[in-house]
Amino acid sequence: MRPSLATIAAELQGYDPQALRVNEVNAFLSRLAEPVTEHEYLDLFQALGRVLALDLVSPISVPAHDNSAMDGYAFCGATLSPDQVLKLKVVGTALAGVAWRGDLGPGDCLKIMTGAVMPHGLDTVAPQEMVTLQDEYISIPAGILRPGDNRRFKGEDLAKGQEALLKGERISPAALGLVASLGIKQVPVYRRLKVAYFSTGDEILSLGEPPREGAVYDSNRYTVFGMLTKLGCEVIDLGVVRDDPVLLEAAFADAAGRCDAIITSGGVSVGEADFTKAMMKKLGDVAFWKIAMRPGRPMAVGRIGNALLFGLPGNPVAVMVTFLAFVRPALLRLMGSKAPLPPLLKAQTLEALRKKPGRTEYQRGIVSNAADGSLKVRTTGNQGSGVLSSMVQANGLIVLHHQQGHVSIGDTVDVMMFDGAI
Ligand code: AMP
Ligand code: MG
Repeated sequence: MRPSLATIAAELQGYDPQALRVNEVNAFLSRLAEPVTEHEYLDLFQALGRVLALDLVSPISVPAHDNSAMDGYAFCGATLSPDQVLKLKVVGTALAGVAWRGDLGPGDCLKIMTGAVMPHGLDTVAPQEMVTLQDEYISIPAGILRPGDNRRFKGEDLAKGQEALLKGERISPAALGLVASLGIKQVPVYRRLKVAYFSTGDEILSLGEPPREGAVYDSNRYTVFGMLTKLGCEVIDLGVVRDDPVLLEAAFADAAGRCDAIITSGGVSVGEADFTKAMMKKLGDVAFWKIAMRPGRPMAVGRIGNALLFGLPGNPVAVMVTFLAFVRPALLRLMGSKAPLPPLLKAQTLEALRKKPGRTEYQRGIVSNAADGSLKVRTTGNQGSGVLSSMVQANGLIVLHHQQGHVSIGDTVDVMMFDGAI
């Protein structure tokens, strides 16, 4: 049985829907969002960004053999002496991809290429540029090499039978390469999430409609589309829905029937007609929150049918901030990801920031490296929650925590980098 909102609320100490703190919102959502279980096998090129559904055990050792890390000469390290030049006869060449077979006597060495299998009995490689070659002999100066230098061990990346990637890991470009290095063509991943979204409001115009006094073009569907697509979700765009109970109910019912999550914008603030809220409540298990944060105070959360509902505020910046702070982590959890949230960075503020204790504030920031390499941050200026141009200029959000008050120039603040999230 999935827990009801009331059950989750009862488990959270001090839950107050009228004054929730940001960390309480995330704690609540992590209980509400239950990871999908179904998985499928995908070819590697299709698996980028998906979440691994089973631990992946290495079927081979990588590398499969001891091999050379350099182009140079392979020899037996025991013959090195700290104060004498070592002179060796070159009796053959070991190429990458072809195991060298032959007999080596004491005082013999082999020319070897990077990645070539270390011939039996040889354990050290003298890089080409360290030696002098004369006729068929090389001279290795004294004291520059130790036995075992420039040799890679069999299995030093991954040993056969070792866990290479763990369930819950999001498949990055590096992970793709790692899986490929194991000779594995397909990986088990959780199914993609389907997420539907629509914007609400009588004043919201779809692109293509002529401008009208008092009306604004819908930007939220585009930012939400972009952020969902970056997460690898399959998106269902349900357009703009008028503030009309019949239309809204139809949109919710349609969305809930065919997706894992529904994201709406607008219609949850204090000034909105109560019928929207009443209708959401009628359709599912929905709570209306006031979050101690800025921007983005009101939010509706819950379940309609099997779908999670995130009713975001209407203001374009508030939509993006609440998505980044709450929806994205919840969706990642739903996708089966076990990755912790990306760490906040510390940067020195180049501006004084006004801040009221008692709420978390997210200010749009531009983080840069100072000449000495340290991180500095300034704001984008106007922090109005409708000012989308500031989200375009920013490369992260300055996070001013709940208890924090005014910040002076030079103080260190936390920043949440957008990185790949938007
Ligand atoms: P609401 O939360 O519905 O009261 O909306 C708050 C503000 O955000 C109002 O100024 C709306 O016009 C604006 N807004 C709501 N939805 C959108 C949207 N989809 N695109 C752009 N602005 C919007
Ligand atoms: Mg509205």
